[in-house]
Amino acid sequence: MGSITLDKVSKSFGEAKVIPSIDLEIQDGEFVVFVGPSGCGKSTLLRLIAGLEDVSGGRILIDGKDVTGNAPAQRGLAMVFQSYALYPHMSVRNNIAFPLKMAKFDKAVIDQKVKDAAAILNLTDYLERRPSQLSGGQRQRVAIGRAIVREPSAFLFDEPLSNLDAALRGTMRLEISELHNQLKTTMIYVTHDQIEAMTMADKIVVLNRGNIEQVGSPLDLYSKPRNLFVAGFIGSPR
Ligand code: ADP
Ligand code: MG
Repeated sequence: MGSITLDKVSKSFGEAKVIPSIDLEIQDGEFVVFVGPSGCGKSTLLRLIAGLEDVSGGRILIDGKDVTGNAPAQRGLAMVFQSYALYPHMSVRNNIAFPLKMAKFDKAVIDQKVKDAAAILNLTDYLERRPSQLSGGQRQRVAIGRAIVREPSAFLFDEPLSNLDAALRGTMRLEISELHNQLKTTMIYVTHDQIEAMTMADKIVVLNRGNIEQVGSPLDLYSKPRNLFVAGFIGSPR
């Protein structure tokens, strides 16, 4: 299960109203991309959903349950950070196992979950290596593995590929899409990259200055942009 509802969610930092008011429905299993220019509030919105920031107003519901005041660990979501958030002194195995150790799972359970995640991510042969001994793509897969073992109801990605080179970004795009096909878990993916949005999303949410300009499938936005901002943003060459 992983439906997420934003009900008049707003966020201010001091005087700055970064998110005036957002209503959004995300269905269980959807791949949703938040796209928009730098500074438009994508990360803030993701952090509000994750519980890493408190809302200034409104409610957040997960599977119909109000989680607005809940701590991140109580929401059943997993945030995937960029690969450089790995622990350099730990093996791949221990990086992936880390959240399970924190949650005090039994060793046998941890071993099995790490094995399963490694198989999904093609990391089985790399479990005893350190992050520094891996390629950029493998490191990003370890970061995803650390999320998978928690069996979250949704994955939250914040520009996970932005520090990879263009060729690797293309490969990882496909891998994350493939992972979504396999797990069928809700994914919210933040990017400022139109190509990532158009190729990965079931549903794109176009953000501008903390407001939703349009929500729709890639085809909807491409063929029926609601305004010049959407047309320019989706259509603009990079
Ligand atoms: P994006 O991820 O789309 O680039 P952000 O969500 O990071 O945008 O930021 C949106 C706006 O909120 C920016 O103007 C940014 O400076 C501001 N902002 C984000 N986090 C904070 C914070 N902790 N304190 C003050 N301002 C912030
Ligand atoms: Mg951001």
